[in-house]
Amino acid sequence: MNERNAPSCDHADRTCLNQHELIRKYRCNDCGAVMMCACDEAFGRRFLAHQLNEGCELETQERITVTHGFQPAICSECRGLQADPAPAAAIPGRTSKIKRYYWRELFFAERSAQADWDVEHPDASDDERRSAHEKIERTVLEDIKALHASAPKYTFAEKSQAEVIVQFSVEVEALEATYAKGAKKGAQIVSGDEVISPEEFASRHYAAQGWQVLRLESVPFHVLFGAMTWLLIQGYDDPLCQMVSFGDRVAFEEKRPGEMIWTHLPSDFGSKGYGERRANAIDEHFDQMLLDDDPLWLFDYWLEPSEGLRQYLWAHRPEDVARARRLLEILPFETTKAILRYLVEGYWDRYLGWPDLLLYRQGEFKFVEVKSSNDKLSEEQKSWIGDNHDILKLPFAIAKIHKIT
Ligand SMILES: [Zn+2]
Ligand SMILES: [Zn+2]
Repeated sequence: MNERNAPSCDHADRTCLNQHELIRKYRCNDCGAVMMCACDEAFGRRFLAHQLNEGCELETQERITVTHGFQPAICSECRGLQADPAPAAAIPGRTSKIKRYYWRELFFAERSAQADWDVEHPDASDDERRSAHEKIERTVLEDIKALHASAPKYTFAEKSQAEVIVQFSVEVEALEATYAKGAKKGAQIVSGDEVISPEEFASRHYAAQGWQVLRLESVPFHVLFGAMTWLLIQGYDDPLCQMVSFGDRVAFEEKRPGEMIWTHLPSDFGSKGYGERRANAIDEHFDQMLLDDDPLWLFDYWLEPSEGLRQYLWAHRPEDVARARRLLEILPFETTKAILRYLVEGYWDRYLGWPDLLLYRQGEFKFVEVKSSNDKLSEEQKSWIGDNHDILKLPFAIAKIHKIT
């Protein structure tokens, strides 16, 4: 312990810098010490020695030096409090709530047991090792499931689809369709002598009611965001802006070797901290640059200079650019600005979950999420629905397709 800085502080009031780190770092709000909890010491020293000297603050993505090493009773659990839930994002192979909430516990337990096995079986073949490691993963998962069933460490705070619909007063329109036998994902619904996707089925339903329909999902919003805010995001007046490089997205999609693309990005891009830090610059951009005399002209004019940012966001495909432009034509510019502002203030929490369709006709528009029979809202969609209710307030409905039997 560094007695010089904090001779008497017991670090009662501390904040975790980043819940998503394996070995979490905490900053004391009284003395400023940055430390880790003693309960992580054994595992940290054995397996993650390179992660003990600094942490990466979630909101700012700044690297923060650990000043006080491991200290007793720093994490919530060691203080006898409920463990702080920090579910990992759902990715293939990690969609269950157990895997998303207990990702640290699973990693710690698997890694330790596998390393112990390796020490005990120095002459094992690669195959033996692989199958032993897989068996350990299964056993560890079963253990955590049993633990969660008897003494849950986390309460899964996520709402069910039904709760989301009730809480946010979502309009649900019931459609009925005949499903093709043995259908694959994509084309599922029988319409005359065709088999079509649920989105196409819903689009035809709304077209028959006199709506025009634009197929969306999230990417057109990313294009709109990139084109209309690049000047703000990549502003030369932003001291946290730095050069970043990434692989050419077009080359990647065409499966050919590509150049690295270099562009400017603030180090805290996409975090809530960015929105707060740049609040004045954001206001200025929205008030002085995004004027409503001719947003389409601005969009066209900014497409080329926003290429770097849009590639970074995977918002570069011509069909998505065309749909973003249509969005801009259809929506009142005030609405578009509200959407851009919502994104700029926390991009990584907000860029997914956007609805499938935009319906529009004479001065009216409505967003629709199409849910096929048995298909459930994703966590990102639930979060979008909550934010739409609280912040965006866009007209929205779910089209729920029921299977005719
Ligand atoms: Zn302290
Ligand atoms: Zn602890």
